Amino acid sequence: MNIAILTIGDELCIGQIINTNAAWLAQSCTDIGAHVHRHITIGDSTATLLNELHILSKEVDCIIMSGGLGPTHDDKTKETLVSFFNDTLILDEETLHNLKARARLRGLPLNQRNMDQAMLPSQCRILSNPRGTAPGMLFQKDVIYVSLPGVPSELKGIMNDHVLPFLRSEIEKESGKKPFFRTILTKGIPESALADLIGDPTAFLKEDDSLAFLPSYHGVRLRIGVLNAEPHTAQHRLDELQTLLIDKVGEYVFGYGNDTLLSVTTELLKQQQKTISVVESCTGGMLGSVFTQQSGSSSYFMGGFLTYSNELKMVLADVSEQSLTQFGAVSKEVAEEMAKGGRLRLQTDYCISITGIAGPEGGSEEKPVGTVWIALASEKQVIAKRFNFGNDRAINRERSVAQAIAMLYDDLIIKG
Ligand code: ATP
Ligand code: MG
Repeated sequence: MNIAILTIGDELCIGQIINTNAAWLAQSCTDIGAHVHRHITIGDSTATLLNELHILSKEVDCIIMSGGLGPTHDDKTKETLVSFFNDTLILDEETLHNLKARARLRGLPLNQRNMDQAMLPSQCRILSNPRGTAPGMLFQKDVIYVSLPGVPSELKGIMNDHVLPFLRSEIEKESGKKPFFRTILTKGIPESALADLIGDPTAFLKEDDSLAFLPSYHGVRLRIGVLNAEPHTAQHRLDELQTLLIDKVGEYVFGYGNDTLLSVTTELLKQQQKTISVVESCTGGMLGSVFTQQSGSSSYFMGGFLTYSNELKMVLADVSEQSLTQFGAVSKEVAEEMAKGGRLRLQTDYCISITGIAGPEGGSEEKPVGTVWIALASEKQVIAKRFNFGNDRAINRERSVAQAIAMLYDDLIIKG
C-alpha cells in the first residue's frame, strides 16, 4: 500500500510550528508495513488542496491528511473534500450528541460554529474523536482518503483507534501477508560504523525481509522486518535475522523492543540492589529528572546535589578549592571529586557527576564549548571520561545525560 501524507496549515509552511504529525504518521504507517511514498505540506488554501488531491489520487492507494478541521474560517479541509467528492453535508446525530456532552461537561455554551462540526459529508465513514470536537473522516473510493484534525493528541488517538487497524486489514487483504518487526538496540557505536560491521544487507536479506537503521542520541536502533502470512514462520525468520545481526554487532547490543538504556540500566540497579545519586553542574538536574521518570525509582535513586557554582561544589560535594583553582571546574579532577564527595555524603553505592561547558559561550582553546567531564564513583573506584558534544547547548545537555547513563550501564554489566 502506497501512502501520501498531506499536512495542511499556514503555520506549518511558515515554520511557526514543527510538523511532528508528518513524522508520526509516516512512522506508524511504516510500522504496519505500508510504504510512505510522499510527504506534502500546503497552506490553508482550498485551491491548493484540490489540486494536490487530484495529483495524489493518481499516485497512491491512500492519502492521509492532517489539519484544517476546526471551526474557524481558516479550516477548509471538510468543505474542500465535499467539493472534491461532489458530496453534501448532513447532520451526524452522534457527533452532535458528543459535542453537547463535551460542552456541558466544561460548562461552555455551544455556538453555531461548534454545532457545524456535526455537519459531515454523507459519503464518509466518521471516525469518532473523544479527545476533541472535530471527528476524522474516511472516504473509501478507488483510493482511501483519511482526514484528521491537526492537534497531535487527537490525530494520534483517531489513527490508533480507527485508521491503523483499518489500513492493516486492507494490507493483509491485498497481500495475504502481515508485517512482523523486531527492534535491536545498540549503543556506543555510530550508525556508519554499525553499517560497516553489518556489511551489505542484500547479502542476507530475502525478498520479504527488511532492515532499517534508526539513530538517536541514545544509540542506533536496528529494526528488522518480515512480511509473512504465518506468524510462526515470521517469528522464525526474525530469530534467524536476529542471530545473524547479533553475530556481527552483539557486543554493542543492550536491549530489544521498547527497552531503553535507562530502563535496562535501572533494571540492573534493582537486580544488583544498588543505589545511585547524582551531583550535577551543567545539566542542572536533568540526570536526576531522567532517573525519576521510571515509576518505582525510589528503590534505587536516592537524590542528588545541584552544584552549579564552585562554592556549592565545595560546600555540598567536598570538592577542594585547590582542584578548582588548579584544574578548573570542568576537569577530570573536579568531576572525580564531585562523584566521590557526593557518594560519601549521600551514602549510595554509585554517584554520577557531570561538569561541562554547555555553551554557546564560555569555551577556551583548551576546553572548547561542549567539553564535558562525567565521573562515576563506586565503592572500588572512580572512572572519569571526557566528551565533546559540540556547540548546541540543548544537545550537549541531553547527550551528557545519555552518556552518564551509558557509563553506569557499562559498570553494572561488567559486575553483573
Ligand atoms: P482545531 O480544531 O484545533 O482548529 P484543526 O484540525 O483545524 O484543529 P489545525 O488548526 O490545523 O487543526 O491545528 C491545530 C493545532 O494543532 C495547531 O495549532 C498546531 O499546534 C497543531 N498542529 C497542526 N498541524 C500539526 C502538525 N502537522 N504537526 C504538529 N502539530 C500540528
Ligand atoms: Mg484549526
